[in-house]
Amino acid sequence: MPDQLKPETLALRTGINRSQFNEHSEPIYLTSSFVFDNAAQAAARFSGEESGNIYSRFTNPTVTALEERLSAMESAETCVATSTGMSAILSCVMGLLSAGDHIVASQSLFGATVNLFNNILKKFDVETTYVSATDISAWEAAIKPNTKLFFLETPSNPLTEISDISALATVAKKAGAWLAVDNCFCTPILQKPLDLGADIVIHSATKYLDGQGRVLGGAVLGRRDLMMEGGVYGFLRTAGPTLSAFNAWVILKGLETLKVRMDAHSKNAMLMAQWLEAHPNVERIFYPGLPSHPQYELARRQQSTGGGIVTFEVKGGKDAAWRVIDNTKLVSITANLGDVKTTLTHPATTTHGRISQQARDAAGITDGLLRIAVGLEAVEDIQVDLARGLG
Ligand SMILES: *Cc1c(COP(=O)(O)O)cnc(C)c1O
Repeated sequence: MPDQLKPETLALRTGINRSQFNEHSEPIYLTSSFVFDNAAQAAARFSGEESGNIYSRFTNPTVTALEERLSAMESAETCVATSTGMSAILSCVMGLLSAGDHIVASQSLFGATVNLFNNILKKFDVETTYVSATDISAWEAAIKPNTKLFFLETPSNPLTEISDISALATVAKKAGAWLAVDNCFCTPILQKPLDLGADIVIHSATKYLDGQGRVLGGAVLGRRDLMMEGGVYGFLRTAGPTLSAFNAWVILKGLETLKVRMDAHSKNAMLMAQWLEAHPNVERIFYPGLPSHPQYELARRQQSTGGGIVTFEVKGGKDAAWRVIDNTKLVSITANLGDVKTTLTHPATTTHGRISQQARDAAGITDGLLRIAVGLEAVEDIQVDLARGLG
């Protein structure tokens, strides 16, 4: 395979694991276990003397194919595929951290990630300090002697704040900590955190990587010494939040069209953002592809487009925001994102509804805020759908 292939080529030409029938489309190996030729081979597989499959909680050829393809696309040494995005984050922290360790995390994280850090990890004596996604000096100030991990998402949800990955990688390295980036919103098509100095990339494959809302899945990517037996894979293999072969196959097929989908999501999102910015009943707009975004220059350096998620605040608070939602006939009213179908959500009463009003105010999640994950419908049709309630 020639070096320097583009991600869209890698998405089609890596992770090919053909059976004896030499099928063109990837096969699915739906089997829980694998048979050995004889007792000696079984012993050699278990001892690690001979590589090869044993049991699908450990490895499965379809899952391995996805891991190879995603590794190639993220320029990672290796990948551990997981059953969901959350189990990717769980496997990362359980595989790499110990009791007494400390995490510095962005305060703009996916809600379940915050719950995992606050409610579960805390029971195992792993503490987390939350800081502004955009304030590098706050990350520096939060470092303790036992800080092992920096954790962030960029752009953040729902306000699309941009964290400077390479600047934070430098700060993390100086502190002797690993930088993990949840690359769910951008995918390797728009942003490659490992190339910018991050140590670990996390994915919820449930979102854009599948892209058509069919399956759950996740992945952790990075250097072999972090991912393997003593780290992330060691946890996965023992604890078992393994990706199923079927879901791996669906995601493999999803990756084949990731580039064209991300380009189309980005184009539609940009048109939506421009239209919303000019709308008289829209108070504010948050989209990293617009020059009005406070970190437009950083976003341009770090990601190749503004992505597919647009957040905007309508005039008139919650009633006005709900009016937009309740007058739609086309878009899906759901908190999911990264789907070819456009999804619309009111963060203050759904994804961020369980945090206090005070915490919401501090995070800038106002009652008039709406998040649209722009799909692949004709953008004019989405605009007509939103215009009905926007007035
Ligand atoms: C959805 C999501 C997750 C969790 O993924 P699941 O597949 O639902 O477990 C993690 N991070 C981000 C940014 C997400 O959007």
